[in-house]
Amino acid sequence: MSSAKLMTVEAARAAVLAHARPRAAMKVKLDLDALGLVLAEPVTASRDQPPFDAAAMDGYAVTAGGLSETSPTTLRVIGESAAGHGFAGSLGDGEAVRIFTGAPCPQGSAFVVPQELATRNGDQVTLTPRDQSGPYIRNRGADFRSGEVLLQGGVRLDPWRLSLCAAAGRGEVQVRPRPRLAILSTGDELVEAGQAARPDQIFDSGSPALTALTRLWGADPVRLRPAGDDVTAIAAAVEGAKAELMVMIGGASVGDHDLAKPALARLGLDLRVESVAVRPGKPTWFGVLPDGRLVLGLPGNPASALVCAELFLRPLIEALSGAEPRLNLIAAQLASPLPANGPREHWMRATLAHRPDGVLTALPLKDQDSSLVTVFAAADALLMRPANAPAAAAGEVATLLPLMRR
Ligand code: AMP
Ligand code: MG
Repeated sequence: MSSAKLMTVEAARAAVLAHARPRAAMKVKLDLDALGLVLAEPVTASRDQPPFDAAAMDGYAVTAGGLSETSPTTLRVIGESAAGHGFAGSLGDGEAVRIFTGAPCPQGSAFVVPQELATRNGDQVTLTPRDQSGPYIRNRGADFRSGEVLLQGGVRLDPWRLSLCAAAGRGEVQVRPRPRLAILSTGDELVEAGQAARPDQIFDSGSPALTALTRLWGADPVRLRPAGDDVTAIAAAVEGAKAELMVMIGGASVGDHDLAKPALARLGLDLRVESVAVRPGKPTWFGVLPDGRLVLGLPGNPASALVCAELFLRPLIEALSGAEPRLNLIAAQLASPLPANGPREHWMRATLAHRPDGVLTALPLKDQDSSLVTVFAAADALLMRPANAPAAAAGEVATLLPLMRR
């Protein structure tokens, strides 16, 4: 393939994302089914939280003028306010209400005196001079106010955001359905793990990795049985797949046995990305079928497939899920020097570590061959070398994409 058809990583990602349309929103219960889904609506508070001025300590609620700042004061205890059981009356000078953490402060309360500063005697309580560190009251609406937008549409529901929805009293939320993926490895040499392999065969390690990764990324993937290097078999597998996004592994290049693109061409594929100026993963391609299904083709070498899944598939899943697609890049200091880079953007497998002074450092792994499954399994992050970058010294700052692990 001529280099004229090579797209930069950025241009290829833009071409892929141009076709991402999330499916119609649906309502889900705010339980485990909602975890990891993307909100299709803003979540707005329908009441203040806390909904009342609440005691922040166990003790006695008193009025603003009810307590001396210099000498002990004895007050009459007129009732009790506990969490879930407020005191109905109001509080006046010379009076106190026994109160517990989380309970509503009665009308007229100005502060709560901690019980450690109180001596109770029947319906009387003697309080030491006012504790200036108070007032030990959490004001109504201190967390959020009625009408406040708590979460914008497009954010992914994690346990902390689920907690916020629950605090706002939401039992259901509008979300986007998980994008449905079908993952197909192709190659005459491939055997599924657990099956007997001839000496000239290898196990399919690509599709299990991508099935697992895409599930973690919020998709609903189905792993298809590997297809051989056969145009008819590949086309039939793709035709029968029920998914809005087809992910193909292998057969992406231009050799006699690289048949993924010819098979898809037979189905009328509109090829939008032919190859990418990236290392590893140059033969990565992308297109759209006449029925609207998207097809991302990844090279078969495990590191190529996994690097390009991070660069193209993850953002595509984000967009299909209704979220903003972005790479969550970090910076770290190089732990070893690097030679100048060639004309393709290079994403190197690297480990991360904290130096004793706390600085995050990145060590590119020695062997960057794209066939190595062991190296990927040892890596924490992908270290990005821009196209034509000059040699870099140890200590220079590099950009990395952390892998989701540990
Ligand atoms: P291809 O992209 O088909 O030219 O394959 C490139 C290399 O990756 C070859 O050595 C293949 O045997 C290997 N390979 C292809 N598909 C997979 C897969 N699903 N799992 C592991 N290795 C693969
Ligand atoms: Mg092949």
